[in-house]
Amino acid sequence: MDVKSVPSDRYRIDRLSEPQQDLLGTLDDFIAEVRAEGPYVLGFPGNLDFSYSRLSGLLDIFVNNVGDPGSSEKSSVSAKAKAMERAVVDFVAELANADPRGIYGYVAGGGSEANQFGLDRGCTLLPEARVYCSTAAHYSIRKSARLMRKELVVVPCDDQGRIDPDALARECRRDAGRGAVVVATIGTTMTGVIDDVDAIIGAGAATGRVYVHADAALGGLIVPFTIERQSWGFARHEVGSVAVSMHKGLGMPVPCALAMCRSELVDPRVQGEYVGATDSTLGCSRSGLATTLLWYALANKGMTGLAHNARRALDMAEYTAEKLADAGLRPELHPSSIIVVFDRPAEWICRKYHLATEGARAHIVTVPHVSERVIDELHGDVLRSLP
Ligand SMILES: *Cc1c(COP(=O)(O)O)cnc(C)c1O
Repeated sequence: MDVKSVPSDRYRIDRLSEPQQDLLGTLDDFIAEVRAEGPYVLGFPGNLDFSYSRLSGLLDIFVNNVGDPGSSEKSSVSAKAKAMERAVVDFVAELANADPRGIYGYVAGGGSEANQFGLDRGCTLLPEARVYCSTAAHYSIRKSARLMRKELVVVPCDDQGRIDPDALARECRRDAGRGAVVVATIGTTMTGVIDDVDAIIGAGAATGRVYVHADAALGGLIVPFTIERQSWGFARHEVGSVAVSMHKGLGMPVPCALAMCRSELVDPRVQGEYVGATDSTLGCSRSGLATTLLWYALANKGMTGLAHNARRALDMAEYTAEKLADAGLRPELHPSSIIVVFDRPAEWICRKYHLATEGARAHIVTVPHVSERVIDELHGDVLRSLP
């Protein structure tokens, strides 16, 4: 449904003198609409294949994970929620090839915050460094650089869509002795391409010391189950921080992400004054709801469930690429990626399937709620729409 077609008065708070029944009815309608649309949301990376209604009791309690997950707590409520948070961080750190004992992490509000956390750690370590990313990096990187008043060097991509190591090396040679903070995108937003971290490290060497922040917002729960399994993330010691969105690959009713860095990069003296906890996070109050749901989802799926999710998404990407090739839309699918990029179809098809578009191309992200049935329906619609 087109949001603009909703009369703007419909949700105005000061007009709501109606009985409560109508308020709940309004939300019931909203829920029904969102759920009906779900199977057709193909262009955005949020996995909608989840259900947490069994845990609705969490909506009647308040859980606030203020401060570091590892810091002491006066309240037993937060102590338990933070123990769950630490378990989540340990689990995801292992997925990212780290020994959890050497990793600091927390549940952030989303991938953008997790990116900013990582870049801030890198820029604190190397205060003279410029920040480098490719033209395909997520716009949250530009936002973070702006907030930190850091110079951002945007480097072109090579013919495979990865940050171009030669162009990066040229820029880095101008910065000898300053160090470099480089963003490696592990699955770019538009095409799912994975940057070559070894090439980045090689190119950055001209600056002296390279700090790599891995933006794995999209790929963080996929690449651990591909040929990248042993080499990505903290496997390379130059990688100081990793960000992984959880509402994308895992499926969550609230946005959230894991912000992680090597423990030696956080300063344990940073105190949240009145909360009685140390606090190296970027916020203050943090969602205990997100943390407890995340703990449940990861524990419930386990490694086997996550591997199954990733496999299903990768297979569905191949299936989608085959169907779109058959429909003549020239699909492109990169290794270890769940994004299929193809020629932009008719406008009504873009709307019906919520396709993300950029110029003459569109994309589908085959997160686990994307089904063969809907891809087949899209295939039929595309064939029908051709002159
Ligand atoms: C989605 C995305 C982000 C932002 O994550 P949010 O959780 O939506 O804030 C950052 N980087 C990449 C590569 C992404 O795909």
